Amino acid sequence: ALDLEPLEPLEPSGNGHHPPGGATLSARDVSAWFGDRKVLERVSLDMNAGSVTALIGPSGCGKSTFLRILNRMHELVPSASLAGEVRLGDDDIYGAGRRITDTRKRIGMVFQKPNPFPAMSIAENVTAGLKLTGTKVSRGARADLVEECLTRAGLWAEVRDRLRQPGGALSGGQQQRLCIARSLAVRPDVLLMDEPCSALDPTSTRRIEETIHDLRQDVTIVIVTHNMQQAARVSQHCAFFLAEQGTPGHIVEAGPTERIFGDPADERTSDYVNGRF
Ligand code: ADP
Ligand code: MG
Repeated sequence: ALDLEPLEPLEPSGNGHHPPGGATLSARDVSAWFGDRKVLERVSLDMNAGSVTALIGPSGCGKSTFLRILNRMHELVPSASLAGEVRLGDDDIYGAGRRITDTRKRIGMVFQKPNPFPAMSIAENVTAGLKLTGTKVSRGARADLVEECLTRAGLWAEVRDRLRQPGGALSGGQQQRLCIARSLAVRPDVLLMDEPCSALDPTSTRRIEETIHDLRQDVTIVIVTHNMQQAARVSQHCAFFLAEQGTPGHIVEAGPTERIFGDPADERTSDYVNGRF
């Protein structure tokens, strides 16, 4: 059986009844195509504010496509189309008149390969996201924002004396935390992470997991991971995707992580989480 190794429980917040930040992200009957090939079949999932949702499943079952639909990157692929609905709180992100940039401000994304701007300074990397989304911050507030975001990403102590060095000079794990800091600068409600630790060593992976754990009170987090130990450690909810024999990817089952790992309803889930395929 899988060794469930939860992270330390969160410190209770100051007033004892601090509501979780972020906003619930809900997908309803989301299907997706590349050309006439259907790759996702009626995926419905609630990703709750204040918690971490892990998306698991074999390669090619549509996890990245689903994540890209959640922040409107899917539609940038010329052959791509989709059906269904995605809501952030009460807001239909694909509703009439909704703009991609508004979605991007509220829903950040971190990729498998850390992608800071290598020649830009560490500080400039953090604020680069503001430019991309057209978010305005006064000059005086910038230094505070850089410190705040690097702190939340767990990187401040390591870089506070070298903020003018290029982002590309950092280690891989530090670069990934810099990318998290850059995402946080626009104060998103949701952070999507597509295998954020797959390119990192175990120590860096652990640092990212701690960062995810600390962020989850303020930001709704959705993480794709192939590492079952990681899914068990960082997530409270889990969705198992599968694409069987050329059929489109779909969710076999979703629920509290403890149940998905400890008492899965479907034999295929049990086989997957126990490493049998
Ligand atoms: P996962 O992240 O679970 O490995 P993906 O979402 O990347 O799965 O891929 C789902 C399916 O969609 C795969 O069969 C993949 O080949 C296909 N696919 C992904 N991106 C594209 C694309 N840009 N054009 C055509 N097919 C794609
Ligand atoms: Mg993928």
